Amino acid sequence: MNVNDYIKQHIRTVADWPQAGIQFRDITPLLQDPKVFRVLIDIFLARYANAKLDLIAGLDARGFILGSVVAYELNLGFVPIRKKGKLPFTTVSEQYELEYGSATVELHTDACKSGDRVLLIDDLIATGGTMMAGKKLLERLGATVIEGAVIVDLPELGGSKLIEESGLPVFKVCDFA
Ligand code: 5GP
Repeated sequence: MNVNDYIKQHIRTVADWPQAGIQFRDITPLLQDPKVFRVLIDIFLARYANAKLDLIAGLDARGFILGSVVAYELNLGFVPIRKKGKLPFTTVSEQYELEYGSATVELHTDACKSGDRVLLIDDLIATGGTMMAGKKLLERLGATVIEGAVIVDLPELGGSKLIEESGLPVFKVCDFA
């Protein structure tokens, strides 16, 4: 079995959560297994070890789990892009549509410097709204977002296509069609 299928095998599908008709892809079994978690993190480390990054940005909340480990291992700083109202200092904010509902994300205005090369990490791309909002926040502070990295892409929802069309390459470990 290839490594991508090995990771995919450890993602649980929960039907009708958080609402009827949604097939939620639950990554907690993957995080809970130390061997699988390490294999996953090593995939990201191999890809970004020589990417000349300045910073990792993680999307609320599962992007924090992945992004902070990758940042630590690559000797980089980590910045959280948080849901509205959670960050204490001055922020920039972006509102966007979700697969279910709408949301606003925020970033501290001193989270990065103009010209920083930033990797944006989350667990999953569905409609792409969350990652696009994160990209916009970082770009408003002058950063260059070099890639959007996730464990799971849901290609049928069109999010990764939208993100790539906006000029941001997407790296995903597996997808659910
Ligand atoms: P999007 O903005 O691309 O529509 O939705 C992606 C965001 O919603 C990500 O931050 C992700 O954590 C969350 N999300 C949406 N659907 C799922 C899902 O099926 N599984 C997981 N783990 N997260 C999801």
